[in-house]
Amino acid sequence: MPPLSTRITSLNAGGGDGWEIFYKARALRAAGVAVTELTIGEPDVRTEAPILAEMHRAATAGHTGYAVVPGIPALRDAIAARVTERTGVATSRDNVLVTPGGQSALFAAHMAACNPGDAALMVEPHYVTYPGTIRAAGAIPHGIETRPEHSFFPDAAEVRRRARETGAAALLVNSPNNPTGAVYPRSVLEGLAAAARDEDFWLISDEVYDTQIWEGEHLSPRALPGMAERTMVIGSLSKSHAMTGSRIGWLIAPEPAIAVLIDLATNTTYGVPGYIQDAALYALTADESLEPRVAAPFRRRRALAQEILAGQTIVGLVPSGGAMYLFLDIRATGLSGIAFADALLDAHRIAVMPGESFGPSAAGFLRVAMTIPDEAFAAALSTLTGFAARLSKAA
Ligand code: PMP
Repeated sequence: MPPLSTRITSLNAGGGDGWEIFYKARALRAAGVAVTELTIGEPDVRTEAPILAEMHRAATAGHTGYAVVPGIPALRDAIAARVTERTGVATSRDNVLVTPGGQSALFAAHMAACNPGDAALMVEPHYVTYPGTIRAAGAIPHGIETRPEHSFFPDAAEVRRRARETGAAALLVNSPNNPTGAVYPRSVLEGLAAAARDEDFWLISDEVYDTQIWEGEHLSPRALPGMAERTMVIGSLSKSHAMTGSRIGWLIAPEPAIAVLIDLATNTTYGVPGYIQDAALYALTADESLEPRVAAPFRRRRALAQEILAGQTIVGLVPSGGAMYLFLDIRATGLSGIAFADALLDAHRIAVMPGESFGPSAAGFLRVAMTIPDEAFAAALSTLTGFAARLSKAA
């Protein structure tokens, strides 16, 4: 065959894509082996029946043709109203692009912010797809390291220095954070916002976990002074409404950015299915108790995990403020996150994500998705800590 483009073959920069343990676990499962999967960030409850009923109603009523590309007006209005209410920043339909999931919005944001070859900063550890998404948009990812001893908060002075050094076009932040669970306080976001204003780059704020706050408060940096004009916000119904498979999310941006991003959508996705949008509109507007109901199991399991981990000293629990993961420090075992995750899967058929999948700052850590029923979750965690204790004795 003719050569493949370097753009497509270098998306993962020659390394793995970070999902290796996940694929290994899925292969074991396919081969009939029972595996406890604590890898992917997907609620264990399915999309609720009334949302599916609305999806079915909309589809059978004929909303199966091409939908308008930026999103149906009623959904754009509902998203704008939600953002206005939650952030206090006046937001209209013209600030909203409906996208097939937050992932597509991440790509769109970088396409809008970066020219080919531009540097794009991203706080690290980061969600697995960030570097590949930035490369897909033609930009070059640069990780801003964070440290456990600083609660995995980014340092604004470091961001400023790196932005100056690289001439970065954008900084990607994610609070509540996947994988660390960090929720950035106002002071951290103010520091980043000042850097963005002074160095003139876009702040791309991934807020897909904004309904999963366990401690502290969620603050959208778009609400800080002078930031609405240089912030793009990624939202999604995947985590908040257990709608991962529906592929429905949004991008909030200044009106001129949305105007050109509609061209991108026209030439790539050509919009989101109308019946999915109708279901999303229903999910966002019909039942206020839905979001807390979807978030409740994670809050409960987090408390359960705190109890289990308090009974031992080998595995450290990184204090988290939000999102559906535990971030565990397993450095006392002497193993890397990859080696530990691999050994745990081999020995106990429990699959967790190695920290290294999320960047070098997460080496020696594990991300554990709190996405199985409480009892099984508690049992898996006890097995994991017992395994770590045996490893640390052997070391
Ligand atoms: N951002 C973060 C931080 C995520 O964890 C995820 C999914 N795990 C996404 C974006 C993308 O989610 P989706 O495309 O399903 O909306």
